[in-house]
Amino acid sequence: MADFDYDLFVIGAGSGGVRAARIAASHGARVAIAEEYRVGGTCVIRGCVPKKLLVYASRFKDEFEDAAGFGWSLEPPQFSWASLIAAKDKEIARLEAAYRATLARHKVDVFAERAVIASPNAVRLLKSDRTVSAKVILIATGDHPNVDASLPGIERVITSNEAFHLEELPRRIVIAGGGYIAVEFASIFNGLGADVTLIYRGDRILRGFDEDLRDGLTKAMAHRGIRVITGHVFTRIEKTSAGLAGHITGGDKLEADQIMFAIGRSPNTAALGLEGAGVKCDASRAVVVDNASQTTVPSIYAVGDVTNRVNLTPVAIREGHAFADTVFGGKAWTVDYETIPTAVFATPEIGTVGLAEQEARARYGAVDVYKGSFRPMKAILAGREEHMAMKLVVEAASDRVVGVHILGPDAAEIVQMAAVAIRMGAKKADFDQTMALHPSAAEELVTLREKWVAPGEAAG
Ligand SMILES: Cc1cc2nc3c(=O)[nH]c(=O)nc-3n(C[C@H](O)[C@H](O)[C@H](O)COP(=O)(O)OP(=O)(O)OC[C@H]3O[C@@H](n4cnc5c(N)ncnc54)[C@H](O)[C@@H]3O)c2cc1C
Repeated sequence: MADFDYDLFVIGAGSGGVRAARIAASHGARVAIAEEYRVGGTCVIRGCVPKKLLVYASRFKDEFEDAAGFGWSLEPPQFSWASLIAAKDKEIARLEAAYRATLARHKVDVFAERAVIASPNAVRLLKSDRTVSAKVILIATGDHPNVDASLPGIERVITSNEAFHLEELPRRIVIAGGGYIAVEFASIFNGLGADVTLIYRGDRILRGFDEDLRDGLTKAMAHRGIRVITGHVFTRIEKTSAGLAGHITGGDKLEADQIMFAIGRSPNTAALGLEGAGVKCDASRAVVVDNASQTTVPSIYAVGDVTNRVNLTPVAIREGHAFADTVFGGKAWTVDYETIPTAVFATPEIGTVGLAEQEARARYGAVDVYKGSFRPMKAILAGREEHMAMKLVVEAASDRVVGVHILGPDAAEIVQMAAVAIRMGAKKADFDQTMALHPSAAEELVTLREKWVAPGEAAG
């Protein structure tokens, strides 16, 4: 057997790479990992975690406003973007250190530099200019934000990467995109007091989500003062004496201090040595893998966003874990991609699991829908005109609940537990027989009794 420097070399210390490295090491493998930016990857450094911290910050505005209805009076609250960013950076540094400590505890060698594939069993470390050999290589390089490179003035825009490090809170921001990152940042900046416009080339935001969620969030965002422009794109961005001007199709001009692009992400596969080693990529430049995350080269595997399967942290982590258990732990298993709960941390928030109504109808034909919309208890004394919406999608033939969709406070927290029930195959009758927890918003899920009938459709 060939003698390698390492049993496993991981390229990229993000969600998937760190989990794979640590689990493989715990199975006794000699492991190294290379990271060209910061240990922790997108989620920890410039994704889920800092974003959620900004989401929390943005929601204090509602709390301050609502407090009066409960007898509190406050001095007009002041907000400091600089203090928020400093506190966020401190927490991210703490988490990065915790990730490094985990790798050190598992005796994983960390190389703080870019690595590329030199051959099916070798990795080139660019800064230290040396090659190390490994029996197995794992590509866990993630992805990066897209911008429209041909757009005149594109060098003036920011992406989510820069949004976390702005020196000051923009007074006016225009965000291009209609996916969850665009929508979340629109809510963040709106909550922090900026004037926000969202511009999206499609006709409705959040493609792929349940239609009621898409409609409900669009209305709620408009109610909160976010201007949503659909069916348009930028044609040119120019610098003005007051900031930036984004010219859009149709001739309008959007003035802003910052313009942010959140129009999708592409896998980090460029100049990684993939072609030379024989690793195949698909049309979107994502690494092609089988259900064991093995690439077209038997000694090279890939997990996480670089494979463009389901681009979420828990999925990358699970793919990394399954890979390490299978290849180094003698325990083969694969990731189940059904019923993955997800959230959109807009305000109000979306939590969703299972099939959207339109998907369920396409898959099962006959589907029963149960919907409820109500003002959360807290909103009443607060005088807040916002509704919470809940929806169950049920396969008619089996009575199985195949989708749970929530828009409103704590939707993500509620949906995480609904996901357990869905995974276990819970029926609508199980929801009905579950005792309500009163008073809560989530109790609505077990008290929805009336089938929803589309206007104009005969009942029965
Ligand atoms: C703004 C934003 C918000 C998000 N919010 C959520 C959320 O709320 N929930 C959720 O589940 N997911 C969220 N995501 C997605 C989540 O961050 C990713 O799915 C997850 O980080 C993917 O993990 P990964 O291991 O595939 O890649 P990453 O975490 O991106 O890690 C890849 C690492 O590889 C490094 N790297 C790349 N090339 C090389 C090289 N050649 N040599 C050395 N190092 C290299 C990179 O620097 C990076 O650190 C969000 C993403 C963004 C951008």
